[in-house]
Amino acid sequence: MNIAVIGTGYVGLVSGVCYAELGHDVYCVDKDPAKVELLQGGEVPIYEPGLQPLMRSNADAGRLKFTTDTATAIAGAEVVIIAVGTPPLPNGEADMQYIEVAAKEIGEAMNGYKVICVKSTVPVGTNERVRAIIADYYKGSFDNASVPEFLREGTAVQDTMNPDRVVFGTESKHAASLLTELHAPLTKEIVVTDIRSAEMIKYASNAFLATKISFINEIANICEKVGADVSEVAKGMGYDRRIGASFLRAGIGYGGSCFPKDTKALIQIAGNVAYDFKLLKAVVEVNQHQRYGVLDKLFNALGTLKGKTIAVWGLAFKPETDDVRESPALEIVDRLIALGAVPKVYDPVALESFRKVYDDPAMMWCQSAQEAIQGSDALCLLTEWKEFVEFDLAAIEAALANPILIDGRNVYSYEAVKGTGLSYYPVGRPVHH
Ligand code: NAD
Repeated sequence: MNIAVIGTGYVGLVSGVCYAELGHDVYCVDKDPAKVELLQGGEVPIYEPGLQPLMRSNADAGRLKFTTDTATAIAGAEVVIIAVGTPPLPNGEADMQYIEVAAKEIGEAMNGYKVICVKSTVPVGTNERVRAIIADYYKGSFDNASVPEFLREGTAVQDTMNPDRVVFGTESKHAASLLTELHAPLTKEIVVTDIRSAEMIKYASNAFLATKISFINEIANICEKVGADVSEVAKGMGYDRRIGASFLRAGIGYGGSCFPKDTKALIQIAGNVAYDFKLLKAVVEVNQHQRYGVLDKLFNALGTLKGKTIAVWGLAFKPETDDVRESPALEIVDRLIALGAVPKVYDPVALESFRKVYDDPAMMWCQSAQEAIQGSDALCLLTEWKEFVEFDLAAIEAALANPILIDGRNVYSYEAVKGTGLSYYPVGRPVHH
């Protein structure tokens, strides 16, 4: 199959590479010339495990090409996949400007029948809007499909090659059979539905996962007050197949480019049809508040933050990614500075992406985990990178000026902590002195 992918971000690039890996001819297009130059040179502009070798081998085999020109990319394509960003507007609604520009460019470049798919996460009705824009410029026949994406950054290649399910919505039998053929090698679980339901499945899925996280975080907050241990509670709950063990890990809340924006967008989508999505509003509020727990614990431990150096381990919103969009670390570091502390920050891959969106003369940028803790008044672990999980706790104690460890992701066991003189503050589990 000849496939064009519009936008080479986390979703577009990974999808394009994986379709090529399945043996298809893929042409990826991006507006950003610097990105395309890197890609043409065999470099991956993002950090995503396993992506670079797969991209190179498919480019070398001639199945994967990159361009800045939409017309070049779609000229020979039967399937066109739109994977541009849909970032949040200040009111929480998804910003449709990139989708609309991409649709216009596709419309202007159409040269025959194609199936136009929207993979970006978009409000219900967007595929119809994309169809209308293309039809303004192109009078020939074409079909539409909503093909929402469920990959997770950090395991994006694995998720794309082995998805739990593939969902697409289309009114066209031809499009349905073409997309089934395209995705059949990946999974048996293919949900074919109408366009509006497919658009909704994506938002509903992310909203549900975010709800699970906020739910367990609230249970954690209660555990702290009643002396229970949320990791034991989650374990006991998770064995129940009706509940499931995943997404029951208490911590400092979700971040990233999807959950925060998709939950807020769904609240807006509901609001636009006069529905007050009370449950999801609470999920967002709980998540926002959860990150401040780190600061409360620092106050408890240190009395004041003024003039204190605080080691911050982890800036990415989760491990195995350089993505810092909506990372809880952004607000925590910002608050630390506002409260007069000096954050000494370190992340194995996200230092540069963090610096691009947040910089302050009060911060100290560290090149290693050790440098961050050396002489600091406390350590806050905000991202559960393997490097931090495996760090010797005795070495943490030895390096810190005050042996205070705030574990925002519950990565350390009491067994490991007990042998040290650390004051250990996890989330939803008893403090250990
Ligand atoms: P991203 O911001 O990383 O990438 C978007 C890319 O599109 C950028 O490189 C940009 O230059 C390019 N672009 C914008 N307009 C263009 C145009 N007209 N022509 C060509 N290129 C254009 O975004 P992302 O994280 O890959 O997300 C893309 C979409 O997928 C979003 O709607 C997002 O919600 C959804 N999604 C993301 C994830 C994730 O984990 N990142 C997972 C599932 C779904």
